[in-house]
Amino acid sequence: MARVQESGDEESSHEIRIVRLGHCVCVLALAGSLAGAVDAAPPVGRQTRFSFAPYLDPNLPNHTLGIGKVVIDGRRVQIEGGDSARPTGPFLFEWGDGETTESGFTASHTYARAERDYVVKVTARYRDGKDTVTARVRFVPRQYTCQRREAVPRRVFIPQEETALGSTMPGYTAPEGVTCFRHAELRSVPREVIEYVLDVGHDIQMDLCNRDVTKEAATRQVVLKQTCSGGCGSLWFADPVALVCHPDYLSGEIGFSSLLHELAHNLTLNSPAGYRFGGKTDGPMNAIVSETLAQIFQHATIHEILNSEGRYGLSEDLCQALQESGVQSIEVVRGAYRRYLADPRRCTTYNDPNTPEDETFNTFMTVAYTFCSLAEERADYRAPLKRMMRLMQTFCAADRERFQQRENESFRSTFLVAAMSYGFDQDLREKFRKLSFPVSDELYAEFLARMSGSMASSAPTP
Ligand SMILES: [Zn+2]
Repeated sequence: MARVQESGDEESSHEIRIVRLGHCVCVLALAGSLAGAVDAAPPVGRQTRFSFAPYLDPNLPNHTLGIGKVVIDGRRVQIEGGDSARPTGPFLFEWGDGETTESGFTASHTYARAERDYVVKVTARYRDGKDTVTARVRFVPRQYTCQRREAVPRRVFIPQEETALGSTMPGYTAPEGVTCFRHAELRSVPREVIEYVLDVGHDIQMDLCNRDVTKEAATRQVVLKQTCSGGCGSLWFADPVALVCHPDYLSGEIGFSSLLHELAHNLTLNSPAGYRFGGKTDGPMNAIVSETLAQIFQHATIHEILNSEGRYGLSEDLCQALQESGVQSIEVVRGAYRRYLADPRRCTTYNDPNTPEDETFNTFMTVAYTFCSLAEERADYRAPLKRMMRLMQTFCAADRERFQQRENESFRSTFLVAAMSYGFDQDLREKFRKLSFPVSDELYAEFLARMSGSMASSAPTP
């Protein structure tokens, strides 16, 4: 029986799909961005400090060449993929066993021995150069196991029975067609292992939110199945709070980074507990808060787990899967940042509902990119993010009023710039002005004045 290895896109795999699901706009990293990362990743011995820094280098190219699914059937392997640029000839496949072939996609190869893994290099040649990406062919079964630590509370469940979803927010109802996962759909990683990883994520993210989260989101969340789109989504308003995903995310290669992204929506949109962002920052300008935070949180969580030196009791293979998933999604962040730099329209925090694309995409990714870059410089995501959240958690009714004014780009921009400046204890106004963000000194001072023991705001740093 053929087993599907990587859940990539059917089409050219360098693209970014934006999936609108409920009230959430989510980004799916596609397999193309994973390619190339496989070899570059540091060895997964957890003694090694994990860093996203190598993948944040803005000079790295965005691959147009991408690998989609790797399908293994006995000793025979099929690799799907595509290239949005125009190669001048067939792709070169180096199969890792000494054999090379040239062809288009789908390419296939039969290995003489299937007792170890292979790294396949695929090269495209263009008029002005070439591009190479890699994929792993996995013959050796992975050990996705964990030893649950008692310090990690039981919070996230993949229920085995149908779960009715109520609502904690007037006007918001869960979509139709959300069901529970069947046992057979959780093929590669046991249910309790996925639940435990999400419990670990929940525990870390609760701390990142300074535990200022509604009781519902803090105590029990469920993972449910949806098949109406290929993506993941957050039902932050549901009771119980739910994250939904396509079965692809829980079979084969687990989409851990995306699951942690939705978990972050569920917590940050239910924070602060007394005046949650969900329902306040919605509408065409929702992404600049919700997607920025979800992007930062998913990578902060993976960074925390991978540098926890065994504290959570996750197997090496599980850590490797988390790492690959995180690298895949950070490369999407970097790609969006590069596009932001190249886009003359630049900063926008308003997503026009009359256009098919989300105009804020590259902007919120640029905020997330900037956060991750600064966090990597300090090798610390947790402390700055907790501080950033502390300022954001001062959000009040007067802020909501200004936030929701369509033209008020400077309010929305300055809110984030002030929060991140406070987070890193570093005045980031000039850095963001260079990125053409409209930053108001007056608003900046207003936000910072809310924080006691506030940072010195006199010395701008580039
Ligand atoms: Zn999202």
